[in-house]
Amino acid sequence: MSIEVRGLNKKFGDFVALDDVDVTIPTGQLTALLGPSGGGKSTLLRIIAGLEKGDSGSVNIEGTEATHLPPQKRNVGFVFQHYAVFKHMTVAKNVAFGLEIRKRPKDEIEHRVQELLKLVHLSQFSHRLPSQLSGGQRQRMALARALAVEPTVLLLDEPFGALDAKVRKELRDWLRRLHDDVHVTTVFVTHDQEEAMEVADEIVVINEGRVEQVGTPDQLYDEPANDFVMSFLGEVTHLGGVSLRPHDVEVESSPHHAGSIEGTVSRLVRIGFEVRLTVLTVDGEEVSVVLTRTHARALGLEEGSTVFLTPAAGATVIPRMAVAG
Ligand code: ATP
Repeated sequence: MSIEVRGLNKKFGDFVALDDVDVTIPTGQLTALLGPSGGGKSTLLRIIAGLEKGDSGSVNIEGTEATHLPPQKRNVGFVFQHYAVFKHMTVAKNVAFGLEIRKRPKDEIEHRVQELLKLVHLSQFSHRLPSQLSGGQRQRMALARALAVEPTVLLLDEPFGALDAKVRKELRDWLRRLHDDVHVTTVFVTHDQEEAMEVADEIVVINEGRVEQVGTPDQLYDEPANDFVMSFLGEVTHLGGVSLRPHDVEVESSPHHAGSIEGTVSRLVRIGFEVRLTVLTVDGEEVSVVLTRTHARALGLEEGSTVFLTPAAGATVIPRMAVAG
């Protein structure tokens, strides 16, 4: 069982938003649709939800041919970024909404709402109005509402897009844990590589209406199918004819390793827990390096320091020819 999209095409006027997309989204997993803005992620999600129609191609959801089904017949729950919450209804009423329109018994609704509010850690806010919640709490309420009707698939379009970095991170961790509890097939859209790498079991990379690669975060990072995936999923730098990640460049203050390349730190920037260096080598190459603050401090690094660079043991090193730019 899975979500299977086959030969999906979608044009807006002359503009090709999706170009012959074939993708299988595995059941019970947390899958990210990842790619740059305008690549077609939301369009694909909306077609899976039934909110938009493809020009050709098919969508099968967990064994049900869904291409021509309206959204309410697909058994999907969705949360879109500007998802309308019912402002005049309490949190509990918002969560109960889908169950009430399905005319479920009152007791069952009450029980289910309590259970869901507990799951999203909002039990103590059940009588508040959405305007009395923080952005992150409101998103959790929207998720509880989407989960209420026990969808077979949960679709989330940039669920954390409008939130500040700290809340975003908390919600990501929370979504991961929630998914580990309920195991509903979940697809979320993001253009944030880090978010996809951290949260998802599986990532579908979408660019210019095409699927570039599908795989686990490790597969995409370690075995990128092409230049686009490699550079989109992480920064790439060059060191003496190889291409590698800036995190994978080992820095020493003296030449311990045979074949290390000497250079001078031309720029040093501290970002959060990391230090980014630009090193100008004796061969005139500019190498980007990222290391921990602790490591940089231990080496006594500053602008003008002499350093010796080698690829770290176990680094993914790709022949330079294979990398764009
Ligand atoms: P973002 O991360 O910015 O949301 P995305 O990858 O989700 O981007 P889509 O929203 O799927 O991209 O849009 C894909 C392309 O289709 C964009 O160039 C967009 O302008 C265009 N598009 C989307 N919806 C429509 C529409 N209703 N009418 C015309 N063009 C549209």
